[in-house]
Amino acid sequence: MNGAQPSNSGLKCMESSMSESGFRAGVKAFLRETLFLPNGVCPVCKKVLFRTESYLCERCAQSLPRVIMPACKYCGKPLSEKGMDFCGDCGPLRDPVLDGGVVWLHYIGSGQKLVHSLKFGHLPQLGSWIGRQMAEAVKEKDWAEKLELVAAVPLHEKRLEERGYNQSDYLAAGLADALNLPYKREVLKRLYDTPHQIGLSREERLVNLTGAFAVSQEKNVAGKTILLVDDVNTTGSTLRECAQALKRAGARAVYTAVCAGAQ
Ligand SMILES: [Zn+2]
Ligand SMILES: [Zn+2]
Repeated sequence: MNGAQPSNSGLKCMESSMSESGFRAGVKAFLRETLFLPNGVCPVCKKVLFRTESYLCERCAQSLPRVIMPACKYCGKPLSEKGMDFCGDCGPLRDPVLDGGVVWLHYIGSGQKLVHSLKFGHLPQLGSWIGRQMAEAVKEKDWAEKLELVAAVPLHEKRLEERGYNQSDYLAAGLADALNLPYKREVLKRLYDTPHQIGLSREERLVNLTGAFAVSQEKNVAGKTILLVDDVNTTGSTLRECAQALKRAGARAVYTAVCAGAQ
C-alpha cells in the first residue's frame, strides 16, 4: 500500500500539471484567436499582426514614406528639386501624354518592401488594401471627380502564369471600390512581353515598349476619362505607352495612380 502512495500522488501531480499546461495552452490559443490574425504577419517588418491591424502593423502603416509635394504635374512622381513642376522624364517631352497623376509612396525602404510583398509574396488581397489607401491621395486631386473608369497596366500572359495574379489588378479593384468607379479588368492588353526596363537607357526603354499595349475594345474607353493604375513608376514609359494606346482608342484624358515611384 505504501508503495501505491507515491505513485498516486505522482499521478495527481501530473494531472494537475497537465491541466495547468492544458489551461495555459487554452489561454494561449484563445489569445491567438482573439488578438492575432491567424498566420498574419506584417508584409514590411514580418511582425505577427494583431486583429486590429489589417494587412500592415500599426508602426509600418504609420511610417510609410508617403509622397508629399512637390510632385510631377504629369505623372505624379516625387521631385527632388523644388521650383520645378515636372520630372526629368516628362519635362523634355513635347506631349507628355499623361494628364496628371498620383504616386502614393517613395520607392525606398518600407515603400519598396511593400511593393515587393505585393508582387512576390502571394498577397493579392494586400493589393486591394493598398488601392483603398491610394484612393485617399487621388481624392485630393482636382481631377478626381472627372474620372469615369479604372484600368490597370496589364501583365503579359507568361508573367501572369508565373505569378498567378497581376498585382495592379488588385490595386485597381481597391481604387475603383473606394472611388465608386467601374473597373474593367481587360481594358488594355499586352501584345508582347517586354524585357525588364532596368539597366536600359532612356532611349532603349522607349523603343523597348513601343507598341507593346493595345485596347481590347475601343467602345470601353472612347470619350472616357480614365484612371490608369500600376505598382511602380520609374521612368513613366509604361504608363505613357498605355496612355497612348488608350488615347488612340479615343479616351478623353488619362490620369494615373501608382503605388510607389522613384525620383
Ligand atoms: Zn510592420
Ligand atoms: Zn513626370
